[in-house]
This record gives sequence, C-alpha cells and structure tokens, in this order.
Amino acid sequence: MRILVVVGAKLYQSLIQNVLGELQVQADYVADGQSALQAVYENKYDLLCLELMLPDMTGLDVCRQLRAEAATALIPIVLLTSDDKEATLKDSLEAGITEILHKSNFADLSRAFKQLVSGMRTQVMGRVLYVEDTQMVAKVTLRLLEKMGLRVDHFISADLAWEQFERQDYDLVITDILVEGQLSGTGLLRHIRGLDDERSRIPVLAISGLDDTARRIEILRQGANDYIAKPVVEEELRARVTNLLTAKHLFDTVREQQKKLEEFAVTDQLTGLYNRHFLHEAAQQAVANANRHKYALSLLFLDLDHFKRINDSHGHDAGDNVLRELGALLRKNCRDGDIAARFGGEEFVVLLVECGLEHAQIKAERIRAEIESSKLAGYKVTASIGVATLSIGQQTCFEELFKQADVAVYAAKRGGRNRVAMTGT
Ligand code: GH3
Ligand code: MG
Ligand code: MG
Ligand code: MG
Repeated sequence: MRILVVVGAKLYQSLIQNVLGELQVQADYVADGQSALQAVYENKYDLLCLELMLPDMTGLDVCRQLRAEAATALIPIVLLTSDDKEATLKDSLEAGITEILHKSNFADLSRAFKQLVSGMRTQVMGRVLYVEDTQMVAKVTLRLLEKMGLRVDHFISADLAWEQFERQDYDLVITDILVEGQLSGTGLLRHIRGLDDERSRIPVLAISGLDDTARRIEILRQGANDYIAKPVVEEELRARVTNLLTAKHLFDTVREQQKKLEEFAVTDQLTGLYNRHFLHEAAQQAVANANRHKYALSLLFLDLDHFKRINDSHGHDAGDNVLRELGALLRKNCRDGDIAARFGGEEFVVLLVECGLEHAQIKAERIRAEIESSKLAGYKVTASIGVATLSIGQQTCFEELFKQADVAVYAAKRGGRNRVAMTGT
C-alpha cells in the first residue's frame, strides 16, 4: 500500500510521518497542489491525504482535477481540515472527497488513520466460481479478482459452472446474467438456491450489461445478494466482493461455533463420550423405536471396581486418565448406532441397538476382559457390568431397563466384582 500525503506545515508532516511509520505504510510527502498532481500522475497511490489549504491552491481544487480524469477518478481522497463549517463539508463532498478527517485533535486523527489503513489492508480470502462468456470481460475481471488474492475458477457457461459447483466448495459465486448455453446466470442462481443444504446460502454476485432498475430488482428477487453493472469498475468489484466474502466468513464462523456448542451440550468433556443428558434423550428414543419396530435392545451399565483406591493411591489426575482411556475402549467396542455414554463419575452406559441378551452378554464379557487385561493408563483396573435386555416384542421403557441394569451391577459387585451379571442373576 502506498499513500501520498499533501500537507504544507513541516511539523504537521512529521507528525503524520510518525503515525504512518508506526503502521508501516509506505508514504510520499509533498507540500503543495502542483507537486501533488504531478506525483499522482507519475505513481500509483492507494490513498491520497490532502490538506484543505495548500500554498498554491486548495485541496478541493486538487481533488476536482483528479476526479476529472479517468485514470485518477477513483483514488480514495481524504481531506484534512480543522474547518467544520457545513459549507466546507458540502463543497468537499461535491468535489469528490471520500472522507474528511479533523486535524485539530491529533489523537483522533491518529486513530482515524489507523482505522483507514487497517480497512484498506483487509485481505479477504476465498474461492470464487466465476461465470462469464465474453472472454475480454472475463480476462479483466479475473485479473482483478486474482489481484485481490482470491482463487478463481472461471467458466464460460453456467452449465459447466453448475457441474463444478456440485463438486467443489466455494465461498462466492460471481455470474454474468446473460450467458450462452442451456442454463443462464439466473438459472444457475435458481439451481443454487434450490439446493437443500448449506451450499444454497452461498453469496451470489450478479453481473449484467443491462443496467435498468427493473432488471436489478428482478435479479435481487431471484436471490442474488448483490448486483454490479458492466463495465465492471475495479473499486466497485473489490468493495462488493469484500463485503460478500466478509459476511460469508462471519456466517461460517458463527455456524462453526454453534456446532461446537451443540457438541459441548451432548459430550462428556473428559472422555469425549456422550453425556448423561444426551443418553437420556437418545435412549428414550431408541427404546421407543425398539418397542415400535419390534427389535431387541440391550443396555450395559458399567461401574469401575474400587475406583476410589486409584484416586487415593495415585491421585485424581491418574484417575482421570483411567476414565479417559476407558472412554476410548468403550467407543472402540461400539458399532454404528450404539451409544456409549458416561453416566457420571466412574459409571458408564452402553446402549446396544438390535442386540439381544446373548450377544449383549458376549459383548459385556469382552469389554470386561479387555479392561482387565489392558491396564488403563498403566493401572490394573477392573469393572463390574450389569446387562439388561429388551427382548423382541417385549414392551419396556428406558427407566425400567436402566433400573434392571443397575440391579445387575449391584449383583456383580456382591458376587465379587470384575464380572458381568444379567437381570435376575
Ligand atoms: P466400587 O467397586 O464399590 O464401585 O468402589 P468405588 O471406589 O469405585 O465406588 P465409589 O462409588 O465409592 O467411588 C467412586 C469414586 O470415583 C469416587 C470418586 O473419587 C471417583 N470419581 C468419580 N468421578 C471422578 C472423576 O471425574 N475423576 C476421578 N479421578 N475420579 C472420580
Ligand atoms: Mg454474457
Ligand atoms: Mg459407582
Ligand atoms: Mg465403582
């Protein structure tokens, strides 16, 4: 980024120099209007910073001259003034000043500069799907987008673009409205908005050679987020694309956070298994399904043996590590559709869907044996497991099943621990 600063007073110039130096912005300094115009014609600046009163002319005169020529018409121009009269404001805007900064308070001015520069530095990232059938236009626009640091896939037909859209994740679609081929730009827009997943919400920037109001309204109604008329002006494209991508990234971040929160609400943080809250919800559903569709379902209730001793002898962290490794062991022993949850403390529940008593017993025994032999976190640990089954065609609720498994664990403990017990044994 390169800025031209046009101020008369040396002291003032050096103050601005300090601020821009701190921001590590490359800047040139001149003291009058003529030198400013010459500098702008000879170099490429991203921003001009002008004082209102210059020795040879006013800042507004400089601004008017630059605005009158195509090559310099769009440079952002900031006016520095201590004059806050209404008339000055009006004249400035008419002359084409982009923004007015009040120079009387240097702290404010310095803050305003920082904002300005960081706004200009905002680099958006993203992958763009771009549809344009006129090669000349495409070439120019592509160059602009790539200059912004974007990855762009260009297609000359909306049909090809649509095929690609289904294959690849994009952050923005830019499409010409009138394109050759079966599918028009609006057709592509309709296809995208008609999808029934997240991709249907991708921002779409429509570009059209026809710039009448009715047309614009129509395109926005069809679901375009924004609209730009040909010929595409670099600054406008840059601003609209930046806005759309910034909004998209914000939306993605919020959605990501929401997902994390949802996960947090159903997950036990120590073991990564489901928590008791989720178990309750999901198990009631699973039991209701088993009752309705008449398949078996079993519930294992696992309680570690003398776990208090692990904590007492090796510390609470050691105990936590054992629980964590037990979590992984249980997860490994689950099939798709099964639910392993930490019920609380050193108690776990595994819900086995479409699993009768015999298989549940085998599975429980396998888990018990694996715990005994694997030395979780380096310690010898054993578990007592209670098994309860809802047999095919039997009608039971989750609470009843859970109570039976709890009774069975108690029986296993009484029987000497490190064993599997069934309801009624
Ligand atoms: P039993 O064989 O009769 O089940 O004996 P036990 O010691 O396992 O049973 P008890 O229910 O008396 O003790 C459970 C212990 O589990 C108490 C507590 O110190 C420990 N515990 C519960 N939650 C956690 C936890 O999150 N981390 C750790 N490290 N220990 C826990
Ligand atoms: Mg076209
Ligand atoms: Mg217990
Ligand atoms: Mg225990």
